[in-house]
Amino acid sequence: MLTFDFYSPEEEISHPLYRQKKVQVFIKRDDLIHPYLSGNKWRKLKYPLQEARRQGKQRLITFGGAWSNHLLATACAGAKFGFQTFGFVRGEAVENPVLKLCSLFGMRLLFVDRTGYRDKRGLFDQHFADDHEAFFIDEGGYSTLAAKGCSEMISELEKSYDHICCASGTGATAAGLLQGIQQAQLTTQLQVVPVLKGGQFIQKAIADLGVSLDHRLTLQLDYHFGGYAKTTPELIAFVKAFTQRTGILIEPTYTGKLCFALHDMLQKDLIDPGQRILLVHTGGLTGLLGMLNKFDD
Ligand SMILES: *Cc1c(COP(=O)(O)O)cnc(C)c1O
Repeated sequence: MLTFDFYSPEEEISHPLYRQKKVQVFIKRDDLIHPYLSGNKWRKLKYPLQEARRQGKQRLITFGGAWSNHLLATACAGAKFGFQTFGFVRGEAVENPVLKLCSLFGMRLLFVDRTGYRDKRGLFDQHFADDHEAFFIDEGGYSTLAAKGCSEMISELEKSYDHICCASGTGATAAGLLQGIQQAQLTTQLQVVPVLKGGQFIQKAIADLGVSLDHRLTLQLDYHFGGYAKTTPELIAFVKAFTQRTGILIEPTYTGKLCFALHDMLQKDLIDPGQRILLVHTGGLTGLLGMLNKFDD
């Protein structure tokens, strides 16, 4: 079986704001799953990789930006489970620590301009149409099998929660969590924080994965900070203060926006006293490597 054991505890966070608002906040430490195959990325890859193996595929073909946690996770997973990996990288050729790590895990990289990058199936067909051992994995791992993998987090949980909060890029993780909540027939509210501008599209992205939208899903649309990987001094200061006060490292692109959103909702009394909240730490800490200069005082 193509899988591995990992450790992802639910850890309670102590913070003056949580005491003041009389809530209990826990964090699901999916960042501890693996340093490079981290967070939701392993959950999203598990079933696609099993499917690739079942079909006898030898090569994983996928897509991402130059700092993509998904590219790195796929490169690492390929090395771990015996697939070759090939990554189409959006934009002009660059070097950075994440792409270097991808190469170190054996991934072959091909840079494509932004126009060409839009048509991922087209790129796959252009380069791999005759390669019957090539397996397509969409950008960010977005797929129904990815959602299935993420849904399993819900059955792992030891406690029950009034709210589960996650950051959202493609919507696959949110779709899986909602599916898990529905399958377990919980009343938990899923608070989804899109990290892209115009995050309303996450609704459709979830529905397109075959998960029915219901009252348990709420999109928190005001925490994108200008768009994907955009930051403000306020967000950077928040990430620093949160990390220093809790000992839990977060980064500005996903988990920083997530935790900021929770703190803002608590400050605005949008969450009732007495409730128990779970933050999902989706990992992605290598993203910090491209942002360290923002933390200079
Ligand atoms: C990729 C990623 C996400 C986004 O997950 P989706 O399933 O695409 O919504 C969230 N957090 C981190 C840290 C990520 O790397």
